[in-house]
Amino acid sequence: MAEITVMGGGTFGLALAFTCLERGARVRLIEKRRIGAGSSGGVLGALAPHVPERWNEKKQFQLESLLMAGDFWRRAEAVSGLSTGYGRTGRLQPINDARGLDLARERAEGAEELWRGEAAWRVVRREALGGWAPESATGWLIHDTLSARLRPLAALAALAGAVEALGGEIEEGGKPPQDAGVVVWATGHEGLAALSDDLGRRIGDGVKGQAALLRPESVPGDNPQIFVDGLHIVPHADGSVAVGSTSERVFDEPESCDERLEELIRRAGEAVPALRGAQVIKRCAGVRPRAASRAPLLGPWPGRAGHFVMNGGFKIGFGMAPKLAETMADLVLEGRDGIPGEFRLEAALAKAGPAC
Ligand SMILES: Cc1cc2nc3c(=O)[nH]c(=O)nc-3n(C[C@H](O)[C@H](O)[C@H](O)COP(=O)(O)OP(=O)(O)OC[C@H]3O[C@@H](n4cnc5c(N)ncnc54)[C@H](O)[C@@H]3O)c2cc1C
Repeated sequence: MAEITVMGGGTFGLALAFTCLERGARVRLIEKRRIGAGSSGGVLGALAPHVPERWNEKKQFQLESLLMAGDFWRRAEAVSGLSTGYGRTGRLQPINDARGLDLARERAEGAEELWRGEAAWRVVRREALGGWAPESATGWLIHDTLSARLRPLAALAALAGAVEALGGEIEEGGKPPQDAGVVVWATGHEGLAALSDDLGRRIGDGVKGQAALLRPESVPGDNPQIFVDGLHIVPHADGSVAVGSTSERVFDEPESCDERLEELIRRAGEAVPALRGAQVIKRCAGVRPRAASRAPLLGPWPGRAGHFVMNGGFKIGFGMAPKLAETMADLVLEGRDGIPGEFRLEAALAKAGPAC
């Protein structure tokens, strides 16, 4: 029976631990602080696709991961007995001018071919969608049926419960073991810093994000999420609505919330009248791990036999986790290397900064 040690209790580490256990491996997961202490412990939980055009390996991989997600999160729920809040509820995006309308229609054709009938990207009249739909200057919206949502902390709790139910060990506040065989480092932005120190190249960094959870009077949790001018508005199953996120390359206080978040909350109310005056029940901030390639980073840790890296989730870590976990499990359990070129260390090194 293979023995795997996973470092890091975010969505990457937990998804990998769960996948390896399902395949019969013995797994121990060591988290330096507590489950969800990193960027996975937020409130947003949008699982949204890339636009269906200029197709590449990353977009294909993400499509496959989003299509796997329903089954993946339902398995975690079944084994743990805990809800993840997963729902494939779709997404709306306003179309504000004639050029945007042409582009949206081209992309609808692109989706037919690239999404192969597994999901749709439609251009629809706003009035056909009811009161939740955002304002749109043309009166038209994009409605995709691939986007989904989950509650990040609930999803982590379900994965952790499933890991333990399958016989995995989780150690919070733990240190790296001396005796470990195969070790996978899924340690978020701190892991990118450690790898950068080791390689003498800036292989990635952290990008801060702030998000909030609102409690509006009445918003059904199965409403589609909304994406407007870079802002995600995500209704959750319990009637709360998450809004986010900021994107900050330079920051002093990783965990603090400030005026930038208040501005997002205000903009959400402008875009969707149902959110005006909603009570803010949580504000939070985290530091996303961003590889220099802007793609996930998977593979062996150079110069450290038996050690591997699973990182670079950046803004789409929850959406990518099911397929990344499968790909990583193939590598560490079976020696099968299906890592896309864009996700390899070499791709990040090609874009990496000088020694830090
Ligand atoms: C505001 C915000 C909004 C976001 N919204 C979305 C979204 O809507 N959809 C989406 O898909 N993604 C979203 N993300 C991004 C997503 O959360 C990340 O891509 C994902 O969480 C990365 O997961 P991870 O497990 O790699 O890292 P993390 O969640 O950061 O986990 C790393 C863990 O490793 C631990 N650790 C660090 N060093 C060590 C060590 N030496 N030993 C042991 N443990 C260690 C840390 O304590 C931490 O718990 C958002 C992120 C933020 C901040």
